[in-house]
Amino acid sequence: MHHASCLCGNVKIEVAGDLPPPNACHCTMCRKQSGHYWASTEVKKTNMTVTGDVTWYQASDRVRRGFCPTCGSFLFFDPLFQDWTAISMGAFDGPTGVKLTHHIYIDNKGDYYDIADGLPQNGQ
Ligand SMILES: [Zn+2]
Repeated sequence: MHHASCLCGNVKIEVAGDLPPPNACHCTMCRKQSGHYWASTEVKKTNMTVTGDVTWYQASDRVRRGFCPTCGSFLFFDPLFQDWTAISMGAFDGPTGVKLTHHIYIDNKGDYYDIADGLPQNGQ
């Protein structure tokens, strides 16, 4: 069982079992919403329980992005037609037991940083 929350504690998340290996997304939307690039883990919807108010921003007809309406923490990337929701790695309390595996959408990365961790990088 893993526990996560937003900054103010309004939104609490429980994940049953191990966390899937996270990736880091450098797409324009993740950079704008997170403030940098965004690390997340894609958890099956049946393995997660969310309590508290979440505000959903409909980023496209296929994806909504969730954040806390009180403190603004960006928590969820939710593709409506998938069986998983991506949860912000930064929201987790305690050891996560996982490491980043790769970078995605680096074609949209900012010019103000380099990716130098040696992990695989995908353009899209
Ligand atoms: Zn909050």
